[in-house]
Amino acid sequence: MHDNGQPEPAYQEFLSRPIRDLGLKLEGSPVERFVEQLYRELDAKGLTKFRPACYLTDEWGCPSGEPIIGIPFYLAHAALSELEKATHDLEDSREIMMYLRHEAGHAFTYAYRLHNSQEWKQLFGPFRRPYRENYRPAPFSRDYVRHLPGWYAQKHPDEDFAETFAVWLTPRSNWRKRYRGWNAMEKLRYLDRLARKVGRSDPPRRRGRTDITVDEMDATVAEFYHQAAREEIAVTELAPDTDLRDIFRVARNGHSSKRWSRRSKNGPENWICARTSRGRPNTSRN
Ligand SMILES: [Zn+2]
Repeated sequence: MHDNGQPEPAYQEFLSRPIRDLGLKLEGSPVERFVEQLYRELDAKGLTKFRPACYLTDEWGCPSGEPIIGIPFYLAHAALSELEKATHDLEDSREIMMYLRHEAGHAFTYAYRLHNSQEWKQLFGPFRRPYRENYRPAPFSRDYVRHLPGWYAQKHPDEDFAETFAVWLTPRSNWRKRYRGWNAMEKLRYLDRLARKVGRSDPPRRRGRTDITVDEMDATVAEFYHQAAREEIAVTELAPDTDLRDIFRVARNGHSSKRWSRRSKNGPENWICARTSRGRPNTSRN
């Protein structure tokens, strides 16, 4: 920024470019090493044939039924990561791995079509149960593992599996000790059995279909972040002529809220894997 508060021309130019024209690729980007770490962790757990493909998209997610992992595009570009940091709450290395393991849990279910099995349904519940936007988690429940904030495992059977998978996959999570005496232990043990059963077999469903990819994101960088900021800053804080510069100022003044406000209007419990449109430009997932 210049002293007068105007963005520098090069920065302005960057903001005005459509995201799809930035040439973002996962390969060779800063986020690639996390995907490689995920694959090593899968290998260490005996899942030698399960290598879910990853792609850049608008946020974390695994399209329902598709064994493929969506990673937010800003993690593949240093300047975009800075922008994310200024307007939201950029994931650190630990959080990136938490999301990747969670999404890998969904992908694992879909790749091996586990949700059709009787045992999966018995342990986690019906896969087709509708998502409830305003579920009320039981904070002290020992029926579920705890991984992402918001007692996310309690949201839906599919999320319960993904969260259980993430805990099971995390190196040194010490789940045998931490969950001793919990009902959740039965779910964790099921994963051990599954790994022995399918770990050396190719998944029946090897490839998944992406939803929107970074190459299809028509919005400019400014539009993407403008909209995101508008969603989380109270209307009363926005002047009618608010521009990106103003939003940055508000963000720096501490009004930028946490990531989950952007993920959903319904609070922290819905901050990931929501399957409805977030109202951002180019968000067509449902
Ligand atoms: Zn999920």
